[in-house]
Parts: sequence; C-alpha cells; structure tokens
Amino acid sequence: MRKLVAGNWKMNGLRADGVALARALATRAADTAPKCDLLVCPPATLLVQVGAVLAASPIALGGQDCHDEAKGAHTGDIAASMLTDAGASYVILGHSERRAGHHETDALVRAKLMAARAAGLTPIVCVGETAAERAAGAALAIIGGQMGGSLPENHGGDPLVVAYEPVWAIGSGRTPTSAEIAEVHGFIRAELRKRVADAGAVRILYGGSVNARNARDLLAIADVDGALVGGASLDADSFWAIAQST
Ligand code: PEP
Repeated sequence: MRKLVAGNWKMNGLRADGVALARALATRAADTAPKCDLLVCPPATLLVQVGAVLAASPIALGGQDCHDEAKGAHTGDIAASMLTDAGASYVILGHSERRAGHHETDALVRAKLMAARAAGLTPIVCVGETAAERAAGAALAIIGGQMGGSLPENHGGDPLVVAYEPVWAIGSGRTPTSAEIAEVHGFIRAELRKRVADAGAVRILYGGSVNARNARDLLAIADVDGALVGGASLDADSFWAIAQST
C-alpha cells in the first residue's frame, strides 16, 4: 500500500510561516514526484491560505480536530463541514494532547469520527499508551480499549487511518523499538479486522519523534503504512526527507 506521511503542525505558525512552509513543500513536490501520499494539518487559521498554496500540488490538507456536532452554539469549536469547506480532506482525532489537555474520551472521539465521516473527511484516529502504561505491560490493553471505544462497532468501508502514537514518544526524541512498534501495529491490524470491512486497506501510521534520521528504519517496519510527524514537519527539508524515506 502507498504510504502516507502526515505533518501535524499543532499550534505553530503565523500566516507568513505557514505559507512559506507550504510553498517550500509544494516546490519540492513539483520538482520531484513524492514517493508517498503527503498531508499537512496546519492550525485552523491557516487552512484556507495553506490550501490555496497547495491546491496545484499533490499534498493534501487536514484539520487537527473537529466538533462532534454539525453546527451550533459551541464557541471556539470547528465543525467537520467547515474543515471540508476550507479544503481539508482529513482530520486528526483523539490526539493524546487533546485527550489529555481537553479531557477527550473515547466516546467523544467516536462521535467526532461520525461527524467527520458525515462531512466526507478521512479521520486519523490516534491511540497510544503512556510510559507508565507501557512499563506496567498494559500497552496493548490500553490501545485495544481506545480502539474499541473510539471506532464504531462496524465502520464499514469508509476511509479511515489509525495513528499509533505512544504518548511518551511524542516530542521526546525517544521511540519504541522496531519489535515494539511491529507488535502494536500488528495488534491494531487485528483489532481493525473486527470492525472494518477491509482492514488491510486502513493505513496505520506511526507517530512519535519521527525525524529525517530514523524515518527509513521506522517506515520499513511491518504494518507501518506511514508516519504522523509533529516537530519535524515544521521544517520543509526534514518533512520532505521523511517522505522520501518511504
Ligand atoms: C505528534 O504529536 O503527533 C507527534 C508525532 O509529535 P513529534 O513528531 O514532535 O513527536
């Protein structure tokens, strides 16, 4: 399956930064055909401008979150249809920073997934254990619980991406071993078979301290169908190097 490398810009970048980064990526993609599918998820304020820069490029646009309702009195929130309207085709859901910082539960992530699906977005559902959970030997149980709670019982054949992001690996410079990643990705694939019509077609991304130096090894692991990249996605050279490592 063609891999997907996605950049999560998080809460970084003013208009000039976002446009410059998007232009740098679009230029690289025009010069050399990307070896994988590419996606950037800028802050909501930059979606339209970044989308305009990327419109003629093969790089897709995504949001970092959406509300579970279609519209209404939810100050500060973004509806899935607003992301679609801004040019997005993907949305990250249940990132550990939202689960921790905004108390998002599995049930809420599932409701958001339904809203994203209704708006025609491909959800990227994030799961992953904390350091304490891994140390306690509970990583797979935690991830299985998150998948059971965050995905619908029967997802059918709608587009879906799952990202395995160990909380302790995000922004830390630490990554699990190849064997640990292979074990979790194999487990996620097996869990997907219980709920998704074509589990083999669901891309399972690895995320957590992916950079230009470790990307080739990480992307070669069984069942790793791409990467969700935070810090290194803010630098065009690094992000491009990761994408071309596939
Ligand atoms: C992330 O938060 O999605 C992430 C993977 O961050 P980083 O690459 O900076 O570890």
